[in-house]
Amino acid sequence: MSNVAWIGLGHMGVPMSKHLVDAGHTVRGVDIEEGARARARENGVEVVDSIGDAVRDVDAVFTMLPTGKEVTAVLTGPDGAFAHMPEGAVAADFSTTGIETAETLSEQAREQGVGFVDAPVSGGVQGAEKGDLALMLGGEVDHVLAVERFTKLVGNYIVHVGPSGRGQAMKVVNNAMMGVAMAVSCEASVLAQRLGLDPQVFYDMVLRSSGDNWAFRNWFPLPGVVPTSPASHGYEAGFMVDLVAKDLRLAVELGTELDVTMATSKTAFELFRRTSEAGAGKRDLTSLALELGAQVDPPAAG
Ligand code: NAD
Repeated sequence: MSNVAWIGLGHMGVPMSKHLVDAGHTVRGVDIEEGARARARENGVEVVDSIGDAVRDVDAVFTMLPTGKEVTAVLTGPDGAFAHMPEGAVAADFSTTGIETAETLSEQAREQGVGFVDAPVSGGVQGAEKGDLALMLGGEVDHVLAVERFTKLVGNYIVHVGPSGRGQAMKVVNNAMMGVAMAVSCEASVLAQRLGLDPQVFYDMVLRSSGDNWAFRNWFPLPGVVPTSPASHGYEAGFMVDLVAKDLRLAVELGTELDVTMATSKTAFELFRRTSEAGAGKRDLTSLALELGAQVDPPAAG
């Protein structure tokens, strides 16, 4: 069994790191929020105060943080993981950060004598809980193999896409599709509601029709139809509006760089950005339906 570090114990990090604990590994965790630390502690993560404490004597370091900014902050610099990890250990970043961040981090890791793999994931909190995420890996083969015994615990479809940054390339493209699908699923659900269609009947029919898509099926944005959708739990994240907006922004920026129109991604980005500006940035992405005028019953008094 191994010692590993896990930095970022949020919606995804808590259920993912639990699989490593359950497999018998010693997981040292770091997070800036006490609530996150407490949830991880309940799962058997040994929560520590500094990155240096977390990464000493580890075989691998895992990060699951909001954006490339936080990942860069915790991995680089004199207090960062690269500086304190044992030589030859590998850091795998499960966050969605974009290609450039992954390429830069890989270069910085090499300079410090450690490995780096970009390893973004797909499948949401439910996939994290079940350990059946899809993982898209970018980096050197040796580094990918060095973390394989851990990545297998959180994912059941794991593909080494190519060199550093290729995992992020795959993820950004996937999430452009997911973000657009979620946006149209929200507006279609509001339209269906205005037309007087019963939400359950609408949902069941779409699943057997050509409008079906992963976001709609798993994250149906009106309450009371899909029990596991955040819409059925007061729109509590899940996958936050700010994070899908970040992913769509990455896709739109790449489109600009590579001369691809990305018109629907731009529209979806604007919709989620507007939802965030209206104060729902930390709510689940399904709350776009509320921004678009969905009528839902107020939550029952607790
Ligand atoms: P989250 O905000 O719930 O979790 C991030 C955690 O990082 C938080 O607990 C936060 O306190 C912690 N953190 C922030 N800065 C830190 C720092 N400097 N040091 C230590 N901890 C710090 O986000 P999430 O939903 O778990 O998503 C994490 C990443 O995974 C994002 O890049 C997201 O785009 C991606 N992702 C999310 C989902 C999903 O369904 N939630 C699915 C696939 C991929």
